[in-house]
Amino acid sequence: MFRINDNFTKLPGSYLFAEVARRKAEYLARNPGKSLVNLGIGDVTRPLAPAVIGALHKASDEMGSAATFMGYGPYEGYDFLREAIVENDYAPFGAPVRADELFISDGAKSDCSNIGDIFGTDNTVAVCDPVYPVYVDANAMAGRAGDWDGGRWTKLVYMPCTAENGFMPDLPEEVPDMIYLCFPNNPTGAAATKAQLTVWVDYANAHGSVILYDAAYRAYIRDDSLPRSIYEIPGAETCAIEFGSFSKTAGFTGTRCGWTVIPRALTCLGKSLYDLWMRRQSTKYNGTSYIIQRAAEATYSPEGKKQVAETVDYYMENALFIRSGLAKAGFEVYGGENSPYIWFRTPDGSGSWAFFDRLLREANVAATPGAGFGPSGEGYIRLTAFGTHESTAEAVRRIAALRG
Ligand code: PLP
Repeated sequence: MFRINDNFTKLPGSYLFAEVARRKAEYLARNPGKSLVNLGIGDVTRPLAPAVIGALHKASDEMGSAATFMGYGPYEGYDFLREAIVENDYAPFGAPVRADELFISDGAKSDCSNIGDIFGTDNTVAVCDPVYPVYVDANAMAGRAGDWDGGRWTKLVYMPCTAENGFMPDLPEEVPDMIYLCFPNNPTGAAATKAQLTVWVDYANAHGSVILYDAAYRAYIRDDSLPRSIYEIPGAETCAIEFGSFSKTAGFTGTRCGWTVIPRALTCLGKSLYDLWMRRQSTKYNGTSYIIQRAAEATYSPEGKKQVAETVDYYMENALFIRSGLAKAGFEVYGGENSPYIWFRTPDGSGSWAFFDRLLREANVAATPGAGFGPSGEGYIRLTAFGTHESTAEAVRRIAALRG
């Protein structure tokens, strides 16, 4: 008789956003006519840039002609996109990444979870706490997390990120084999400095750990002294894999395109991690569509860059509005300066879910409870800047009114 992967049965029942959606639906069913303002969403709301739409049309037309039709593409992605990413996202920042170290994909979520395929299931894994839940669940599915004890995974190394340490994880006492880092961070909105990342790169190189660096929110960095890539740190090429995404940079959440960098210098006992990932991708993945790769390339054209930057600026106006509005109302607010996420402490020590329910009932605002991102998220709430200016202003007004 066949058996299932038992690790799936260990996963706690309700995924965070499913529970949030359930509570919202229940509230609305009980209170017909009420309208909620949603600042819980992690999805973008602005449409694709005109330059991207133009590229989508053009590439679609190419597919309709025998002379320009494209079939299966290279597993690692087309050179035109790999080169555009390097020219625009790495070279200007002094990150010595080469186009032949990049793999184009359908987004960062699949890559940062599938990357586990090339690592032993007996590796220990460290995650920030709170954390983007995908790293945790993907490793739980692979059997690296141990058992769920009702509050945490028995084998994961949790690295608390709280106001007390400026939302920057401390080096763990037990040395992990795989270390997930994400800056600018979802959910706390914290952004790492070069000095902070240098500590991690040196630690990983000294202990033989690999850093899995999620840079999905790099476009939101406003402070030019902050690194957009871990490869701005000398030594990262021998210890780090980086994930990039067009989702939040260019509104590709529904269009799907991202990339992974695996430096040629990154090896384990003489084996190239680039080669292992190429072997994995060529077996399990047939590439991101040509049309979508052309659309991603268009984000780097002169007009594409301008249009994409305008959208990011739009969201950052929301972020700063939320940040200053809540601070003025007396909340303890973090993030939102180099990130589309605002992270604030619940007033009067109330729990995340309790204050989430209060926001829902009394302010009619949907947020995301910090506890859903990990034990150290307890007592915090996450808001996002991905709404419209109007809905953001309304939400801030309603939340501020709670403070009287
Ligand atoms: N990484 C982080 C930290 C995220 O918050 C998200 C989406 O919310 C992703 C990756 C997913 O990116 P993509 O849409 O490229 O799969």
